[in-house]
Formats: sequence, structure tokens, C-alpha cells
Amino acid sequence: MNESDTSRHFLRQWIEKDVAEGKTGGKVVTRFPPEPNGYIHIGHAKAVCLDFGMAEIFGGECHLRLDDTNPAKESDEYAENIKKDIKWLGFNWSGEGDGSEKGFYNASNMFDKMYEIAENLIMAGQAYCCNLGQEEWKVYRGVPERPGSPSPSRDTSPERNLKIFREMRDGKYADGEWCLRAKIDMASPNIHFRDPVIYRIRHVEHYHLGDKWCIYPMYDFAHPIEDALEGVTHSMCTLEFEVHRPLYDWVVDRLDEMGMLPVRNGVKIRTEQREFARLNITYTVMSKRLLLQLVTEGHVSGWDDPRMPTVCGMRRRGYTPGAIREFCERVGVTKVESESDPALLEWCVREELNQTALRRMAVIDPVKVVVDNWEGPARDVELPNNPLDESAGQRKIPFGGEIWIDRADFMEVPEKKFFRMAPGQEVRLRGACIFKCTGFVKDATGKVVEIHGTWDTDSWGGNAADGRKVKGTIHWVDFASGVPAEFRLYDKLFTEKDPLKDGPSEFLKYMNGESLKTVKGFVEPLLSTASPGERFQFERTGYFIADEKDFTPEAPVFNRTVILKDSYKPA
Ligand code: ATP
Ligand code: MG
Repeated sequence: MNESDTSRHFLRQWIEKDVAEGKTGGKVVTRFPPEPNGYIHIGHAKAVCLDFGMAEIFGGECHLRLDDTNPAKESDEYAENIKKDIKWLGFNWSGEGDGSEKGFYNASNMFDKMYEIAENLIMAGQAYCCNLGQEEWKVYRGVPERPGSPSPSRDTSPERNLKIFREMRDGKYADGEWCLRAKIDMASPNIHFRDPVIYRIRHVEHYHLGDKWCIYPMYDFAHPIEDALEGVTHSMCTLEFEVHRPLYDWVVDRLDEMGMLPVRNGVKIRTEQREFARLNITYTVMSKRLLLQLVTEGHVSGWDDPRMPTVCGMRRRGYTPGAIREFCERVGVTKVESESDPALLEWCVREELNQTALRRMAVIDPVKVVVDNWEGPARDVELPNNPLDESAGQRKIPFGGEIWIDRADFMEVPEKKFFRMAPGQEVRLRGACIFKCTGFVKDATGKVVEIHGTWDTDSWGGNAADGRKVKGTIHWVDFASGVPAEFRLYDKLFTEKDPLKDGPSEFLKYMNGESLKTVKGFVEPLLSTASPGERFQFERTGYFIADEKDFTPEAPVFNRTVILKDSYKPA
């Protein structure tokens, strides 16, 4: 794709301009700030590609910052898996770090600093403690069209505010009894500017700091402080934060007044925020809260269920980091909300795997075929591992006169243009020989259980000695050496384009009852030595991956990543 089409988007131009104007002090610094309250999903992957990608393009650094300022739902399990998933996507954080690891920051390590800043604001008359109740709060704040009303505590003296704030910190009050508000503008048409809460009381254990704190900073206060003090130059986030930007700038202005902005190569680094449209994908949900609900209620097997839009789910499904990055690139960076078709992601996956996946034969709905005139021991068939990549070499597969084929490759009475196996009709058994069906056996229910026929003993390798054409070629697995295997076939998790169309309490009714089918069949012997996580093209069947958790050589399990072909073409 032409680089100038998609990757020179408005955010890249914004950074370019700042670099040219010398605003970065010689180094572009971005950050990816996930909250460790769940696993990252394809939407986060887009932000990862953007945050790390821009740092890469400008030779700068991207910090990984766990935004762990909201203690209730955070955990180390989430934190560790976020790191794992970002690395798997092909990115690495860099920069100084806050002590534990290069390029890595915990927002909670800044709590002391944030607290100090809050006290500074109080003493400067720019913040005050307020004890309005929830309902009163709404009344005082008002509506955008008319100015709000000042809190009765708005003009309390700094000394008294400091006393109350310290009592808040020391645990004297219950949750919600008091909060700290920035003193900005109760008449602003932007509601977020009407003396927003910047600290609240929460008597909750923090997953790292335990009960050290019972007051926690609000996102709008914490985020600009984190960005600014880390020396971030360009802070990119999703569109819903656009209306918070004046507040972001307000906090940065206060830090500037306090002399806290870092200086790089003689340039004062003043972080700025810009917003882009979030990635939405049809036929799935992406909010971490809803994904968690799917997991805890057992609708899926876990965060890494291959039907989940999580990065770990996509990995287990067999999607590649390259395909996910390509998808994010093609979706592009814009300021307009839109919905992306999952078929585009599948297309990206297919494009890559077609080039790289080793070809193997697998039969997922087996029926037995007996070659009645076969004599002697099994012979080896030799087939390329990847016809698009000669360096992948050849493989040998035994053929012993009894094989499995897929039921769909046989018809008792062939339809017009059915060139596969049927009575009286010749078909090529991939790489082996030409076979002619002479009959079949049915069980009591009328199901075909065994097919018989003969091979053309002059056709070893697959071509007729007399040069006659055989139209159909089918894949097969040798009966004696084939290995029983389980196949997990996936489809969309929801039947509706927008599962949230009736609201978040109703989305479960749109779950696709057919999103997982588990079937048993056979694979060629080599596949029992596959490594968990290895990807293959099962000829004529689809792309599959050896399941990273359940695959064993004795009982191989393969997940279908994507079907082989689709009519979808990217625009
Ligand atoms: P969710 O709404 O799924 O719970 P979140 O926005 O609360 O996600 P965070 O951990 O706060 O999750 O997000 C980390 C970063 O990823 C933020 O900068 C956020 O803007 C970005 N991000 C989250 N979801 C998307 C998305 N769908 N598309 C693009 N960026 C996203
Ligand atoms: Mg968030």
C-alpha cells in the first residue's frame, strides 16, 4: 500500500510539525496507557500500533504505562498479560521507566507526586474540598446551556481545605463524604470544566499499594500529570476524550506554573493530547466489562477463547501479529467513528498465511476408502511443504491403499459439474494416483460408511501414463498411519452486526449458538509432531493452528483460524 495514503494521517502530520518546530527537544515520546482491569482487545491493538508505531517512525520512544489509578478491578494477571500481548504484537516499550523496568511505568508510582500537586493547588487557591452529596452535585453542576452554581465550599480558605484534604487522606471520612475539586469555571459551557472532581475517597485496597491510600486521583487529573512528568510529547487517545482536552491543558498549565514540566535539550516539554476515532468491529462487543461478563458467566472458555476479540483470543485462533498490524494500518486513523468488517481482518490473515503456512492434509469429516487392487506395502507420496516457497522443502506421506477422505468429496449420484469422487468417475488422490470409484457400502441408516474402487497402476504420482485428463483432485489421509485429531471450527460470536443494538443488558440474546463446532477426524502423521502454536494450511480445508493449550502429540487439537477462500475483497 502506498505509504502516503494511510500512514500520513493527521496525527502523524501533527507530530511532524512539532518535530519541525523543535517542540520535542529532539525526541518524540508517546505512551500506551492501558488500565490493568482486563485483557487487551483488537481496539487496544489499534492504539498500540499507533502509539508504538509513531514512536518508531520518529525514532522516539513509547512508554508502557499501566494506568492503575482506579483500584477496584485491577490485577497483576491483567498487567502481565497486557505486557505479553504487546510484545507478541511486535512492540517493545523504551525510555527510562520508573525504576522497575526500562520504558515501563505504573501510574500508581506517581501517587505521592499527585498528592503533592493537589496540595499545591489547594494552597494556590485552585482547588477546594467539597461535600455536596451526589444528587446536590448534579443540581449545582447544572446543564451546558446555563451556568452552574458554586458549591457552598467554593470559597473556603486554603488552610481549611488543606486540613480537610489531609483528613481525607488519613481516612477520617467515608467514601463520597468529601472530594477535592479543581476551581475552574462554573459557567463554562463545557461541563468537564465546571470545577471537576480531581480526588475522591475510596476505601479500597490497591493491587500494588494495599491500603496505603484511601483517596485516589481522577483520570482527568492523573493522566496529564503522568504524561507531563514522564516527558511525553504526544498523547493520543480516543475521541471521547476530546471534550476533556481543555481540562488536560489546564492541569498541564498548573504544572508549568509549579515549575514541574521536564526540560529536554533546553526545551520545556509540554505534553499535548489529540484524539482519534476508536476501532469498532461488527458482530462482536469490545468493552472490557462485557468481555469479562462473557468470561465469568461461562459463555466462552476464557479471555483467550478463540472467538474473543482479545489479542490473546486472536493469537489462539491463529491470527498473526503481522495480519493484525496490517488490519490496523488499513483501517486507518481518522476522526470519524465507523465500523470495520471482521472480513477485512480475516482477509489480512489469509493473505499472510497463504505465503507462510506449511501445507498439510487433514480430513475433518472422514469416510473410509478402500483401494481394492492395492498390493504390497505402503508407498511414499512426496509433496511440497509450501508451493509458494521452495525453501520450505518436501515431505513424505505414506499411502497404503486404505485412506480417509472428506465426506463432502463424495457423491452417490454426482451432480452436474461434480468432479470429485463418485461411482464410475475418476479422481486424482493428491500426489498419489488416479482412482476410480466402483461402489460403496451403507449402514442401516443409509449412511455411506465405506467406498470402494481401483487405482490406475500406471498413474503413480497422480498423472495418467496415457495423458488423459482427470478434472478433480482431492486430499486424503492414510488409514494406517493417519492420526486421529480434534478440529475446532469457529464462527462469529454474535449473529447481529451490532449486538448492543438493544442495550448492554440484552446482548447475550444475540450470541451465535453455532459459533463453535468440535469435530473429529484425521491428520497426516507429520502433524503429531507439530508444536503448539504452529500454523498450517490444511489443503482445501482452511488455515488451522495447533492449539496452544490443548494440543498433544497423542491427541492433536487444531483450531480453524479462517476458511481458505472468501468472496471478500478489500476496497
Ligand atoms: P474498554 O472501553 O474496552 O474497557 P478502555 O478504553 O477503558 O477500554 P483502557 O485500558 O483505558 O481501556 O485503554 C487503553 C488505551 O487504548 C486508551 O488510550 C484507549 O483510548 C485505547 N483504546 C481502547 N479501546 C480502543 C478502541 N476500540 N480503539 C482504539 N483505541 C482504543
Ligand atoms: Mg479506560
